[in-house]
Amino acid sequence: MGSIMIVRFSSFLVVCAALAFVIACGQDPTPVVEGNDDNGMNVGQNNDSEATRGDGQSCGDDSDCFSGVCLQGDDWPGGHCTTINCDDDADCHGDDAFCMTNPEGNDFCARPCDTDGSGQCRDGYTCQDAPADPGGWCRPGEEDDPDPDPTPSNNDNNDSNNDNNDSNNGSNGDNGVNDFEIECQSSPGQQVSFDFEVSDDADSYMVVPISEGLITPLNITTPGGETINFQGQNSFQAAGAQMFGVINPTVVPAAPQFDYQFETGTNTYTLENDASEICWYVIESQDPVTTIDLNVYLVGVPGVSPDDAENDINVQNMLDETEDILAQANVEVGEVRFPEVPASAEDNYSIIRSEQDVSELIAYSEDPGDTADELVSANVFITEQFSFSGGGGALGISLGIPGAAGLHGTGISGVAMTGEYLGTAGGGNKLTAVILAHELGHFLGLFHTTEQTGTSMSPLYDVPECDNMSNPTACPDWGNLMFPSADTNNDELHPDQSFVIGVNPLTK
Ligand SMILES: [Zn+2]
Repeated sequence: MGSIMIVRFSSFLVVCAALAFVIACGQDPTPVVEGNDDNGMNVGQNNDSEATRGDGQSCGDDSDCFSGVCLQGDDWPGGHCTTINCDDDADCHGDDAFCMTNPEGNDFCARPCDTDGSGQCRDGYTCQDAPADPGGWCRPGEEDDPDPDPTPSNNDNNDSNNDNNDSNNGSNGDNGVNDFEIECQSSPGQQVSFDFEVSDDADSYMVVPISEGLITPLNITTPGGETINFQGQNSFQAAGAQMFGVINPTVVPAAPQFDYQFETGTNTYTLENDASEICWYVIESQDPVTTIDLNVYLVGVPGVSPDDAENDINVQNMLDETEDILAQANVEVGEVRFPEVPASAEDNYSIIRSEQDVSELIAYSEDPGDTADELVSANVFITEQFSFSGGGGALGISLGIPGAAGLHGTGISGVAMTGEYLGTAGGGNKLTAVILAHELGHFLGLFHTTEQTGTSMSPLYDVPECDNMSNPTACPDWGNLMFPSADTNNDELHPDQSFVIGVNPLTK
């Protein structure tokens, strides 16, 4: 049986997490044009003879643009025609547009401008330095607000990008999830600190710093004077920044022995930041933990479509098995949605061949709703097959340990895994459940009990480690869900692991 692996991603895959105006993480522009009737399957030249708008110009819908792509929503005032994945200026449509190098994502066409001048950009746009080209580009944002706030998602239906907080009022219910919003402040020096509030109702929280540049988490100081040292005993909590560069989902307390690090009131997060602004959001969690909601994307899994997944005996059996595993942590599977990816994405990503495939597929995740309760749900992409050329038999990948709760529509918004064992004889549904629960375990903050190579980063005391991975079934941690190799019998959770699952706000 191949191993379940987590794979390190370079930061270019996750710019979507950092930028509000981001171009799609995937190769298709779908994540930003979602909401159009044509499902966003509009890469390339528009054959509509009524198109009149060049790249960088305003638009009402895709048919207005020569390129066939009209970026819309609050992030793109008045609409913005563009050509995604351009190679050079000749690929751009209309006069005067240029192919802008995006060092952290897909290149795209924009209008050039002179950063020394003014009034060259239309309303809602301002001239900013292009990230990796000479000169400037007309970027969304006013002069006094040069950096639009990053938001939890950029791909919802054009009306809720910047108002999660507004639209979530009244959605608290009794599920322990608070409303959350993105905040930002300027970051003039290399080192920056920001304050965040933890309410008296909370029992744990996730704070997620996000930047357009690389970040290095240093510490959190609590109101009582404790220091959570990410360069010292809490270094395992810098895994997000190590993997993705620009984001670091941080749960407090991270393990039972760090219970004292959780304090309500004003906490201060200090980090190094290679950008002029730092943004963050906080999601609180309350005891007792009861449920996790799942958005299960079935991508080319033979014999089952998203439409009939609710009635599919194998899918339901697999989810029941997943629930049995999570029940060890007193978590039940709550609402399960089966959203669909566009047909083009299914064509491209049914067979996952690279880390980049994973990230591009996960970028198709969408906000499951406008409320905080709906947003705090985990995206699981189950594909026809994982066929990594260099993946060493990876069966699944989690984008983060832990992942960023509440963040949809980015290249790190969930987990992806193979569905090739679903419905197969000899416990295929159980094995699929083990893979799903294992990847969810990572996304909730669990490390492997033992790493295949090197030292485990797991901070948990009550989970044994293996001295001799050449004989895995003899290992003391064989049988644990977070053993790095999948097996139908590797489904156990220890109490410390249950603690980690419970304090993550994704379990609510
Ligand atoms: Zn793993």
